[in-house]
Amino acid sequence: MERNTLARQIINTCLEMTILGLNQGTAGNVSVRYQEGMLITPSGIPYEKLTESHIVYVDAEGNHDKTQLPSSEWRFHLAAYHTRSDTHAVVHNHAIHCAAVSILNRPIPAIHYMVAAAGGNSIPCAPYATFGTSELSEHVAVALKHRKATLLQHHGLIACGENLEKALWLAHEVEVLAQLYLCTLAITDPVPVLDDEEMAVVLEKFKTYGLQCGPAQP
Ligand SMILES: [Zn+2]
Repeated sequence: MERNTLARQIINTCLEMTILGLNQGTAGNVSVRYQEGMLITPSGIPYEKLTESHIVYVDAEGNHDKTQLPSSEWRFHLAAYHTRSDTHAVVHNHAIHCAAVSILNRPIPAIHYMVAAAGGNSIPCAPYATFGTSELSEHVAVALKHRKATLLQHHGLIACGENLEKALWLAHEVEVLAQLYLCTLAITDPVPVLDDEEMAVVLEKFKTYGLQCGPAQP
């Protein structure tokens, strides 16, 4: 797809994140796989002021045009593309409920069958490292090896997808799951979860009826 079209889709995804209530200020960032690297939102420009020319190309080694500054969190976006060949879009934000669970430093267990949307029977929480560092991107690479989404301890969430629509859909689903988890934690801990056998059934159904054919729920 043409660069300008992808850049417009990135901006629209950012604006959609705001509509969905997933954004805190300019904290979120969005990218798509492009050529040998990716196109990513710039550092520190409010979404409503973004134009296609603000979207930065970063190559596989992290090089970019020196007149443009990519999001400070570009390293873990690249790490996601390196780790997951099925990923063509990455959404990151500091959505309140995901950030809250990440502060508790817990994965989201199989509290609801939609946990399978991230590709397994839990959604992990990658260990803390300073934002923008290689250390953080190494933690992200480990967490995303077997999942399409991960929490980041004391930070937020990353969701991957075959396209921007699916990555944003997953980010929103994970935020809903985090909210559900916090609701139940307020009443009981440990929270009852679906067993591995049932989650295996759900994961199998997702292969056939789930995200393959679009963002609609199975
Ligand atoms: Zn962040």
